[in-house]
Amino acid sequence: MDNMEQVSFSDLNLIAPLNKALKRIGYETPTPIQQKAIPLVLNGHDLLGIAQTGTGKTAAFCLPILDHLHKSTTRRQSQRPRSLILTPTRELAIQIHENLREYGSDLSLTYSVIFGGVGQTKQVKELRRGVDVLVATPGRLLDLIQQRYLNLDSVEVFVLDEADRMLDMGFMRDIKRILPMLPKKRHNLFFSATMPKEIQKLAETILVRPKKVEVTPQATTVEKIDQSVMFVEKKDKLNLLVHLLKDNKKQKTLVFVEMKHVANKVSEKLVKNGIGSSAIHGNKTQGARQKAIKDFSQGNTNVLVATDIASRGIDIDGITHVINYELSNIAESYVHRIGRTARAGASGKAISLVTGDEKSYLANVERVIKQKISVDKDQPYHSDVAENAKTTKVGAAKKKIEGDRRGPSRRGRGGNSNKPAGAKKSSVRKDGAKKNFGGKRSQAKPRAAK
Ligand code: AMP
Repeated sequence: MDNMEQVSFSDLNLIAPLNKALKRIGYETPTPIQQKAIPLVLNGHDLLGIAQTGTGKTAAFCLPILDHLHKSTTRRQSQRPRSLILTPTRELAIQIHENLREYGSDLSLTYSVIFGGVGQTKQVKELRRGVDVLVATPGRLLDLIQQRYLNLDSVEVFVLDEADRMLDMGFMRDIKRILPMLPKKRHNLFFSATMPKEIQKLAETILVRPKKVEVTPQATTVEKIDQSVMFVEKKDKLNLLVHLLKDNKKQKTLVFVEMKHVANKVSEKLVKNGIGSSAIHGNKTQGARQKAIKDFSQGNTNVLVATDIASRGIDIDGITHVINYELSNIAESYVHRIGRTARAGASGKAISLVTGDEKSYLANVERVIKQKISVDKDQPYHSDVAENAKTTKVGAAKKKIEGDRRGPSRRGRGGNSNKPAGAKKSSVRKDGAKKNFGGKRSQAKPRAAK
């Protein structure tokens, strides 16, 4: 976190019902991005926010939007949202919608979320009733616009969230189709964790005299973390993990996986081997998740196995090790994950277990952190085959993120999918779809079904 003056939410001039909700939720102090962004947005500035998930950016844009819509004299209309938040994945869309409902529970505004992979009836019904803030993934948004269930001509505030991830997931074409459907005069908020050239250009076409707000997450922390890679065959991964965790009762290890079922499988295997562990992921109840986190924080269990989404917002002190049981295909997640150790000046260890299939993800990570991670061969399951496996081109690896969008592999414009229009013809996409839904785990499996 930046060294900023201590400011409280009440200093930010938000309307009373929002402050009341924040108190109820338990937010005491605004995060740096909130401190910087909220006053600017309340003053009507377009905003370029360089921040990743975990910084509190959702509240940074939701709170001033709710404040504005509550005060504005414009009225909610059927099928014409007053604010649009565009976000790349269904998980993020759901999360933002949940946050809106929490923050705005004392306001007479309505919030809806639309994404692909599910039936559209309920979504259409809500749109008909009239929505103040609509959270959407690009594919379903365009789909419903084409079917004339939705019109963007009344959008007063437009948010493009996780722009760089949109690019990675092949949504650029969809975004470029959506932009002209918005009114020319509007308030724009643009968020991205990184600013590659194409995203810079996109920001320039959307934003008008923006104010820039940047929060650098754990970039410096990375240097304090002892990082290593262990190459291993897929069949040996669990055994290697058990080997690493056995006899290390003093350690507090966070293990990251990509899929919910893998989280369960890994945690069960650890428990069978006498290693206190629990798993958290999206399918667990809030109660079960809280219990797992409490057990881990208090040292009753040494290991917490988590998916990225489930681990968000969890702040646990004293994590000594982060193990990437599976690497994320979103390289930035790596920085975020390993930043969970080495908090508050402490040092920490980050170990990534990498199969031949995951070498391209590793290459992506090394590109993002601008360093080579050292290989630790001093382990019983080291695999030369994995180490020497060919890396798929980074671009091709990125394309696999398309598996992020879940749900039935419907094709064609009328389908229910979240897929970017431009991705339909891609051979990677075809390949991925076949493998994803053929039931066989492979390199092209969806990597983010959390
Ligand atoms: P985000 O980056 O928006 O995904 O937020 C990350 C996590 O931080 C979420 O679980 C939020 O509920 C939580 N959060 C956001 N702002 C605050 C705050 N000011 N105080 C405490 N928690 C917060």
